[in-house]
Amino acid sequence: MKKYVYLFLPNNAEGSNKMQDILGGKGANLAEMCNLSIPVPPGFTISTEVCTHYMKYQKYPSGFKKQVNDALKTIEFTINKKFGDTKNPLLLSVRSGARQSMPGMMETVLNIGLTQKTINGLTQQTQNQKFVYDSYRRLLMMYADVVMEANANKKNIRIKLEQILSNIKLKNKVKKDSDLNEKQLIKLCEKFNNIISDNFNTPFPQNHKDQLWGAIEAVMHSWNCKRAMEYRNIENIPHEWGTAVNIQCMVFGNMGHDSATGVGFTRNPSTGEKKFFGEWLRNAQGEDVVAGVRTPNPISNNSKHDLENQMPSMYKELNKIQKKLERHYNEMQDIEFTIEKNKLWLLQTRKGKRNGFATIKIALDMLSEKMHNQKSMINKIKPKHINEILLPTINYNTNHKLDIAGKGLPAGPGCATGQVVFTPEDAEIYFNKGKQVILVREETSPEDVQGMFVSNAILTSKGGMTSHAALVARGWGKCCVVGCNDISINYQDKSCSTSSHTIKQGDWVTLDGSKGLVYIGQIELTKPKIKKNELFNRLLEIINKKKKITVRANADRKKDSSNALALGAQGIGLCRTEHMFFETERIIAMRKMILASKSIDRRNAIMKLLPYQQKDFYKILKVMNDKPVTIRLLDPPLHEFLPSNNYQINKLAKDLQITQSNLKQTIDILHESNPMLGHRGCRLAVTYPEITEMQTQAIAKATSQLIKEGYSPKPEIMVPLVGNLGEFINQKHIIQSALNNIFSNQSLIKKPSIKIGTMIELPRACLIADKIAVHADFLSFGTNDLTQTTFGFSRDDIGSFLPEYMSQKIIKNDPFESLDIEGVGELIIIAIKKAKKIKPDIKIGVCGEHGGDPKSIEFLVNAGVDYVSCSPYRVPIASLTLAQIS
Ligand code: ADP
Ligand code: MG
Ligand code: MG
Repeated sequence: MKKYVYLFLPNNAEGSNKMQDILGGKGANLAEMCNLSIPVPPGFTISTEVCTHYMKYQKYPSGFKKQVNDALKTIEFTINKKFGDTKNPLLLSVRSGARQSMPGMMETVLNIGLTQKTINGLTQQTQNQKFVYDSYRRLLMMYADVVMEANANKKNIRIKLEQILSNIKLKNKVKKDSDLNEKQLIKLCEKFNNIISDNFNTPFPQNHKDQLWGAIEAVMHSWNCKRAMEYRNIENIPHEWGTAVNIQCMVFGNMGHDSATGVGFTRNPSTGEKKFFGEWLRNAQGEDVVAGVRTPNPISNNSKHDLENQMPSMYKELNKIQKKLERHYNEMQDIEFTIEKNKLWLLQTRKGKRNGFATIKIALDMLSEKMHNQKSMINKIKPKHINEILLPTINYNTNHKLDIAGKGLPAGPGCATGQVVFTPEDAEIYFNKGKQVILVREETSPEDVQGMFVSNAILTSKGGMTSHAALVARGWGKCCVVGCNDISINYQDKSCSTSSHTIKQGDWVTLDGSKGLVYIGQIELTKPKIKKNELFNRLLEIINKKKKITVRANADRKKDSSNALALGAQGIGLCRTEHMFFETERIIAMRKMILASKSIDRRNAIMKLLPYQQKDFYKILKVMNDKPVTIRLLDPPLHEFLPSNNYQINKLAKDLQITQSNLKQTIDILHESNPMLGHRGCRLAVTYPEITEMQTQAIAKATSQLIKEGYSPKPEIMVPLVGNLGEFINQKHIIQSALNNIFSNQSLIKKPSIKIGTMIELPRACLIADKIAVHADFLSFGTNDLTQTTFGFSRDDIGSFLPEYMSQKIIKNDPFESLDIEGVGELIIIAIKKAKKIKPDIKIGVCGEHGGDPKSIEFLVNAGVDYVSCSPYRVPIASLTLAQIS
């Protein structure tokens, strides 16, 4: 018979960490801890196959129930207690646990097995009535919520029960749940039982077996609740996996002063610091810490209230175990523990979620600690982690006075600004209107994930560093401030207030998730200074050593160029020149050129731009010095340079001393039906050769100037939109004679050799790449236009049908984001093969957004490109990807 149930007993588990697929993460790691002789309450795991079977057939596989009952007997024997026994009852926890951690998404029920019959026995046995009824009220709450009210998106019963709990606390003037005495708790349980009966028209089950099977079924069901599905959609977790169910003996952190519960990270998940970090609560059960019911104390921060001072021997043991676990897994761990009457138990260990900064710091530290080698270290880092450390921050150096609304805990990295909303639904509404949102809640719960996802940042007024909001935000690398007690929220009015401010829905606030601060208003955010980022630079050094392919940046200004350098760019793969024509004085000359009727006037007009262009190129080439800079000659259609509204037309006519109607007529003539396929790129340069001449002269002059100053400029000239060999040859002649013209007049020791190549962005160019290669020094795939021309999709008009195409799965991904390997990719392969056959050492590059997309990069490298070029902020991601695949 197939095995569905796997025991984990002290020093002896049937499963192991390798069996995550069928035991889920939690079950596999509980088994692993048992095998490592770490104290874990005994139990067993129901495999994920039972859940998938149950979802498919609405019933359990045959033989399964017997396996559960047998396992239960083994557990009873192991700890010498009996499930449902009136004198010596065993209580159980029933916990979900998917293959990949989905924190808080699915259900857990604790204290299963407490019934009128077992309550008395347990009270007798423990002599602790308060503990028994505290456990009972927890069971009633969880069971009603999770099992009886299976629809996890409508938590009516939970709200009702919580209301009663707070009323009782209010009435008896106690602050904490744990301050209620036994009488009050008995009363509370009585009320709970009544409400539950009324609410569901059926009483809370007083049979321990009914409780157990109800809980098992509910946990399996929770796999398909709305919030879990949403979470899986966001995290790309397959819906077919199903959850395992862990049944485990309860251990009690709520037995009094000598009992406690907590969570910990083997390293600090915000800073990456190598120091055991966590939070704990005395006299509580596990959920209290995570749900933010009470504000927990730190585990170790040299304060009076930390675990190290309060329970030194427990701390010592826990500290030993956390070290052992991290060593064993070679990975930072996130652990849950409970102390029952001075005995420590581990309840969970898993890979710790952390922000990008911490991920990089920990990976680098573990490399020095020899827990990683270079390869495993690089593989630990994902593009999003690098993105995060390059996140915007508030510029604290400006004189601008910042208006602080409150201070909380720094739970998520970076800074964010947006308009305040108070419900996840409103967050989605705002987001869909294209607004920037900040979600403000007392605390968040798994139902809120969709709203949290669309928000720029999350702010909570309660909860600690391990609360739901903090955990989720950290996973996403989202800015988050938690536990901001200064703020009190009024959900009804959709507003919140501090001692000094009232913030209404729609008002702007700005958060600093690294400092835990909340500011009033929309504050401008700046990108961080990468040059001084020691962590980033250490990482970059390792990445650059490892990767075999060059990364260049698309940059067309001095500032972008130095930024790109700091981010690790090894050259510029695409320097666009069009923006250089748009500044006020330049555009006049440009327009004069376009509108001139005689060639001589045209030339005179365009040559006015030469000094400007020379300066532009000088600055960029100087910053990049000995690194290659590929300059693309003018590309856009001419009408982009002409005015479109009457006022501007009027003004230009005056400037040019022609009549308005004449000017309008010329503009009309230049109008094109399909400008993207029109008079642009080298077509422009063939008809207006003086543009190429001027641009080349400017490049040559800037180059000579820099050489004389002792620099080693490396410009490369790239002709855009070539589809016919003749176009390229035509341009090459003009370029060469312009270069000769300048260089022969300069007293240079050695005439610089400037590479001349072309962009490949038309299917025809791919098919004649061999012919082009005969004359070209390099080819660079302009994958944006190549995608556009291969599909025949206009990039600017794709919005009207692409969403429909994607939802109908006609197209899987947006081909402008991730390269279409089947079509565009095939053209690229053909072109590279043809070109290299004729000229094996021809340099082949890629410029276009795909140069920064990890999946596209992998394909392009295999296709044989020599470098990729992308926007500066994607350079580190491209470099990381290249290091990971080399
Ligand atoms: P999650 O996956 O949301 O972390 P868990 O299954 O870990 O859910 O359970 C939630 C909480 O219940 C944990 O924080 C843990 O402290 C507590 N818990 C689970 N099992 C036991 C147990 N056997 N004894 C005591 N507390 C438990
Ligand atoms: Mg847990
Ligand atoms: Mg192009």
